[in-house]
Amino acid sequence: MADRDAERSNPGASLLLVGGGHAHVAVLADWIRRGVPAGARVVLLTPEPILRYSGMVPGWLAGQHAREEGVVDLAALAVRAGVEWVQGRCAALDPEARVVTTDAGPALRFDIASFDTGGEGRGEALLGADPRLVEVRPIEGLVERLAARRASRRERLRVVVAGGGAGGVELAFGLRNLAGAPARPEVTLATGKGGLLPGFAGAVRRRVAAALARQGIAVIGEDARFNGGALIAGDRSLEPVDLVIAATGSAAPAWVRASGVATNAEGFLLVDAHQRSVSHPCILAAGDVAARADRPLAHSGVHAVRAGPVLAANLRSLLAGETPTATYRPRRHSLYLMNTGDGSAIAAYGPLAAEGPLVLALKHRIDKGWIAQYAKLAGASGDHD
Ligand SMILES: Cc1cc2nc3c(=O)[nH]c(=O)nc-3n(C[C@H](O)[C@H](O)[C@H](O)COP(=O)(O)OP(=O)(O)OC[C@H]3O[C@@H](n4cnc5c(N)ncnc54)[C@H](O)[C@@H]3O)c2cc1C
Repeated sequence: MADRDAERSNPGASLLLVGGGHAHVAVLADWIRRGVPAGARVVLLTPEPILRYSGMVPGWLAGQHAREEGVVDLAALAVRAGVEWVQGRCAALDPEARVVTTDAGPALRFDIASFDTGGEGRGEALLGADPRLVEVRPIEGLVERLAARRASRRERLRVVVAGGGAGGVELAFGLRNLAGAPARPEVTLATGKGGLLPGFAGAVRRRVAAALARQGIAVIGEDARFNGGALIAGDRSLEPVDLVIAATGSAAPAWVRASGVATNAEGFLLVDAHQRSVSHPCILAAGDVAARADRPLAHSGVHAVRAGPVLAANLRSLLAGETPTATYRPRRHSLYLMNTGDGSAIAAYGPLAAEGPLVLALKHRIDKGWIAQYAKLAGASGDHD
């Protein structure tokens, strides 16, 4: 275990933000509003100059938003915050030497590092390799691939979405209502043996199942996988299929486990309630790349967003040479708003469910409000997409 000398950091300390996820944008916002902690030298490392907001992707598919509407301009936020933006992807972390190696450039040294890189796709690991397979992560890759497909396709598209969680459900609805499609795509949702929306209340599952049936989306409660070049679920063929979307949850990036920092069994970076690595106090993490050591916490954008201000406060403390004390305490229930692509949405809050155009209006209001606050802080709407 590394010693806690991060607390002895002083002005001039170097801070590395790796990944521009939902939590790190809150850190950048904090620095724009209150200034970067005195004297700190800060670098933001991300593969792209933007963060694609996943919650608006199903609405984009259904033609409710323009493609460039659902993005946060990371590079502009970095400029406004007084942070150096470096384009690249973390490929390796050495927590003892305090170095991150990027796939594209020189190694980056740090006194304190914070990770918010999200998870990685695991569709190929679960379903097998096939050219028709599209991973949901990275989300920008999914958007690129679907945009190209939408532009090129002349016939009816046949899609299988693998994964019965909220992301898979929303993508199935979005694809069934694909804007600009010459004919309404045929969509099958293979939920896996875990079934539709595991972890959600019966009232929510019933509403979603009814909406899927109403829209003609077939639901199969089996694991989909490729076998001899054909997609099957259980003992049944799902062919012919043009596109298979793997919304099968996220896997931990391989560099996390390889680094030697403490991880949970799945390889996600293990943090305490202050978002701080339980093995290396100079490292913090939030969002899907992290796992809480003190309690189970689902990977979701809601938790990444809410952990952001906690991360910001604790990084500020660390840079001032103080012990971080801010704690992320998840609420008992989170509000999920699932866009059904047809002008309506389904809300889930613990045991409660609601549905209708007003729920969709609320979703648009929340999503667009989240994007707008960062566009305002960046001083522009973002022109990198
Ligand atoms: C279709 C869909 C809809 C969803 N809708 C919702 C919803 O409505 N509500 C909800 O709560 N959750 C939703 N989710 C889940 C949500 O997207 C994730 O839980 C959330 O994005 C996780 O946020 P994050 O900050 O951990 O990482 P991300 O948002 O994934 O951001 C990670 C960032 O790090 C960068 N990055 C990645 N790898 C590296 C690397 N090696 N080095 C440097 N930078 C890197 C990426 O480019 C990106 O900028 C949805 C998911 C999907 C697929």
